[in-house]
Amino acid sequence: MRIYKVGGAVRDRLLGIPVTDIDWVVVGATTEEMLAKGFRPVGADFPVFLHPKSGEEYALARTERKSGRGYGGFTFHASPEVTLEEDLIRRDLTINAMAEDDQQNLTDPYHGQRDLEARLLRHVSPAFAEDPLRVLRVARFAARYAALGFTVAPETLELMRQLSESGELEALTPERSWKEISRALMEDQPQMFIEVLRACGALKVLMPEVDALFGVPQPPAHHPEIDTGAHTLSVLQQAALHKQPLSVRWACLLHDLGKGLTPEEEWPRHIAHEFKGLKLIKAVNERFKAPRDCQELAMLVGEYHTHGHRALELKPSTLLELLQSFDVYRRPQRFEEFIAACEMDARGREGLEQRSYPQADYLRGAATAARTVAVQPLLEKGFKGPELGEAIKRERLKALKAYKDNA
Ligand code: ATP
Ligand code: MG
Repeated sequence: MRIYKVGGAVRDRLLGIPVTDIDWVVVGATTEEMLAKGFRPVGADFPVFLHPKSGEEYALARTERKSGRGYGGFTFHASPEVTLEEDLIRRDLTINAMAEDDQQNLTDPYHGQRDLEARLLRHVSPAFAEDPLRVLRVARFAARYAALGFTVAPETLELMRQLSESGELEALTPERSWKEISRALMEDQPQMFIEVLRACGALKVLMPEVDALFGVPQPPAHHPEIDTGAHTLSVLQQAALHKQPLSVRWACLLHDLGKGLTPEEEWPRHIAHEFKGLKLIKAVNERFKAPRDCQELAMLVGEYHTHGHRALELKPSTLLELLQSFDVYRRPQRFEEFIAACEMDARGREGLEQRSYPQADYLRGAATAARTVAVQPLLEKGFKGPELGEAIKRERLKALKAYKDNA
């Protein structure tokens, strides 16, 4: 049997980027031989094994053929006769279709190295169109390598467009899609993921609610960039620049969905877009089965981001309601993430990227003021049940009034 490094490890070494996980392909071996060498089989779908010591993935060279819709609709063929070139041709991008032996000899039948130099994300063969997930993967690689100057080859974008129009994207499972979306959002230029999906028509299929924001104007006084789609991309970019976690990035992407529902006669104003957007945010959350923390934060940011911006003008009673809605007493971290998302929203506007955001500290101070209300003295005064709840609320309101007066 012959063993080669493949995929990302080869690509990233040639790019001079640190390699995190290594994928291997094994040519000329059978499952029985692998098991005899102590490799552990993973999953039932593909002939993939884990190395007994390193835990890295070793896949038997295989060919694939599409036999139906979706990912289940694949038949593969793995046997010792399958060559390295046959295995490489089933891969998505030329830069991912190179292999390297233990002497660092490169096998590059589809010119991945040439495309690395040309900074092009190009499909290997027309079989690219057989797995719609590749549309998301290419967009994710575009986000990851944008800083290095990579773009999607025009003919690959065209294939992605055909795939998007074919209805195949709808066959993707929420789990597979979310894995790509979440990884793409954590890249340095997540806005590029959305831009590429939009350029090939996939955004309209996957997240029509986000796609609808492009072409929708906002008031230039608050939004010099005017376009709501452009604003959303900038907010996402700010979130990445500030190294925000996934939940914040997800909330940033979805925070203004309600603006896509505003009747044109009302443009560029978007009255109550915060509330109107909630059903759309919920729909996107559920479509991809986003994790609970992402779902919750997106809903809360959608509903309350304008409160965040107006923090300094809010009445103490409104501040209190905001803090209660976030259950800031038990979930202080989530409130921090809300503040972060609001700040990214404020900075994700043309020419305002460096603005200060005093609302952030003001909101933190308010949360601290409300949290310092002690329950023990109220218990000692004999408050119980709902009355105790009311008493705590009264004390918190008092604390917030004092906080606002002194701020
Ligand atoms: P990363 O750095 O994100 O791990 P990677 O290129 O190694 O990037 P993996 O998901 O680890 O990506 O996949 C390893 C290799 O398997 C890819 O480089 C590619 O050659 C191939 N591959 C993975 N998923 C697909 C797919 N859906 N269609 C075609 N080829 C794929
Ligand atoms: Mg990999």
